Amino acid sequence: MKIINPATEQILADIELADPVEVDRVIEKARKAYRTWKDVAPGERARLLRRFAALVEEHAEELAQLEIANAGHTVGNARWEAGNVRDVLNFYSGAPERNHGIQIPVPGGIDVTFQEPLGVVGIIVPWNFPMVIMMWGAAPALAAGNTVIVKPAEWTPMSALKLAELALAAGLPEGVLQVLPGEGEVAGARLVEHPDVAKIVFTGSTEVGKLIAAQAAQQVKRVTLELGGKSANIVFADADIDKAAQSAPMAVFDNSGQDCCARSRILVERSVHDEFLAKLTEAVKAIKTGDPTSEDTQMGPLISAEHLARVTSYVRDPYFQGAHPDGPGYWFPPTILTGADDPAYREEVFGPVVSVVAFDDEADALHKANDTPYGLSGSIWTRDVGRALRVARGVEAGNLSVNSHSSVRYWTPFGGFKQSGLGRELGPDALTAFTETKNVFISTE
Ligand code: NAD
Repeated sequence: MKIINPATEQILADIELADPVEVDRVIEKARKAYRTWKDVAPGERARLLRRFAALVEEHAEELAQLEIANAGHTVGNARWEAGNVRDVLNFYSGAPERNHGIQIPVPGGIDVTFQEPLGVVGIIVPWNFPMVIMMWGAAPALAAGNTVIVKPAEWTPMSALKLAELALAAGLPEGVLQVLPGEGEVAGARLVEHPDVAKIVFTGSTEVGKLIAAQAAQQVKRVTLELGGKSANIVFADADIDKAAQSAPMAVFDNSGQDCCARSRILVERSVHDEFLAKLTEAVKAIKTGDPTSEDTQMGPLISAEHLARVTSYVRDPYFQGAHPDGPGYWFPPTILTGADDPAYREEVFGPVVSVVAFDDEADALHKANDTPYGLSGSIWTRDVGRALRVARGVEAGNLSVNSHSSVRYWTPFGGFKQSGLGRELGPDALTAFTETKNVFISTE
């Protein structure tokens, strides 16, 4: 597989994709490594994860440069992502010694619970945030005593391969964290169907997620699913309209809109709709799209020619389009649409395209925000605290922010309602997704 820099269309690397025999070999290696890894003392497992985090810190710039070259991320984003990988590892390196059960009062003995690891965990990763999404699954899975196989997206294996190298250099035993570049229908599907893989963490499209859930059900295999989104940014008339309009573009165009949390529907109270749209347009005009290695670039290219064609097909009659560079690279301008009948208003475009639509009152805002099969994130802009809380409770989504667009902190839970997913990643409870509770009664009679 030729790995291409999406900003220059130059070939970065030639990567061999695994066939089913290779996948089985990797699973067998992970299964063997599990026998010893699960019994590594908690303090020692913690120490190894801390060393891994320290090596990520040492190689942060190299990891960031890989993400810039392979995924077209802006340099600011890529450096944040390398730091996030380090932080996630550090956070979950505190978990092995705290992975405790409980003691429950019972007559005739004592009753205790243990949080047992699952075995081999397969993590199937999309191309939009390759290294962070890999580590959101891998760090807590490893901390809980599982061994891990990461299947990166076909287009973006580079940072994952580097992280596997760093894990070995940090002293994680062979087979504990393996990266397996391969096609979804071959390597990914084999991980899902193989009986020695105890759990699948899948991040990607809702379409493939449904397929994986159905296949995993054959073995009652555990799954965490992080799927698509069509999140709403709800702006009430009493909000700080300047701030809401200034911040709205990057809440959808960050990573060129290739973000599951992108607030790609802006719902604006009718009385301030025109004022907001005018201010939003000014803010979009100011976005710098271009060379991702340049420090002031806000938006890079799309991931591939194929994806560029898909995003382009959604835009027919734009209200406004910003600038983008000419020449090589998969460029698409930041784009504002205003039609509620557009397919782009309902479907996940996964590109820099936002739809702005008016609403009448709080009930209408909630109805429009929830009128989607997705439920991943969203924002609410208002100065009325009561309304902020009512609307936050009313929106059917897993990650909301008020007067802000933040969605992801490694120490708070992340995941979707409805068809945006199943289960949660990150936060204080992530280990429960990688353990089974075992109850043991010991008679004292
Ligand atoms: P995708 O579903 O096409 O692919 C994701 C991964 O699944 C890739 O590694 C791919 O090789 C693999 N895959 C494909 N078919 C498979 C199969 N039959 N069996 C097993 N594995 C298979 O998604 P994508 O285009 O890479 O990523 C974009 C999507 O990911 C968007 O819908 C986006 O919203 C979603 N996403 C969600 C989150 C979240 O946390 N909710 C985060 C990032 C991206």
